Amino acid sequence: MVSILITAGPTREYLDDVRFLSNASSGRMGCALAEAAMAAGHQVTVILGPVERMPPVGVRVVSVTSAVQMQAAASDVFATSDVLIAAAAVSDWRPLMREPGKPAREPGNISVEFTPNPDIVAGLAANKSEGGRNRVVYGFALESVSAGMPAAIARGKRKIVNKQLDAVVVNLHDTIGSQQAEFVLCHADGLDQPLERSDKRRAADLIVSSAVELWQQRNIEHNL
Ligand code: C5P
Repeated sequence: MVSILITAGPTREYLDDVRFLSNASSGRMGCALAEAAMAAGHQVTVILGPVERMPPVGVRVVSVTSAVQMQAAASDVFATSDVLIAAAAVSDWRPLMREPGKPAREPGNISVEFTPNPDIVAGLAANKSEGGRNRVVYGFALESVSAGMPAAIARGKRKIVNKQLDAVVVNLHDTIGSQQAEFVLCHADGLDQPLERSDKRRAADLIVSSAVELWQQRNIEHNL
């Protein structure tokens, strides 16, 4: 049994008590990953942004709203995890200031200053071996359909290097909210595994089993 941490769903970055900046994300892929990991007999925790759906019974769920909250919750659980799969669509920025209440709309344009959010997966991956563990970290790279798969793969591969990931799931934005997934799983060692359009649960099985196998390989080698 492997201890698997999944980040899933969007984050919300509130401008005031009502308005927020967020990303389109249904949490469907994250929940499918949790389902796949549970079905394979692992111990699963999901750090879940605001979504309509819930992972299956038996999964430990920590609900969060903002990226800063997601980062705090994920780093807590990461300490005792073997595998991290970062599927969350984290908002890249948050407003520098949060206004109290719901300020009334006034005529004319407004400007809001945003500040970058922490890169959660990069921060955790930098501490992959903390506590003497050989953790495995998988990320996602979502690109627009107009960018096209070859460019998306090239960008995904840069994320492997920049964020110190073991693999990245490269997909295009037409998978958001869809029942289906179509992606290329790019590994840090250069292997590219394409998955033809199939339902998200099947896709999740492939991602989870790949990450767990890598963890087993590393830890068996390490303990020899
Ligand atoms: O850089 P980009 O947002 O495309 O990277 C996507 C990957 O990084 C996903 O695995 C996502 O969950 C993760 N990420 C994160 N924290 C951020 C931004 C992205 O964990 N602030």
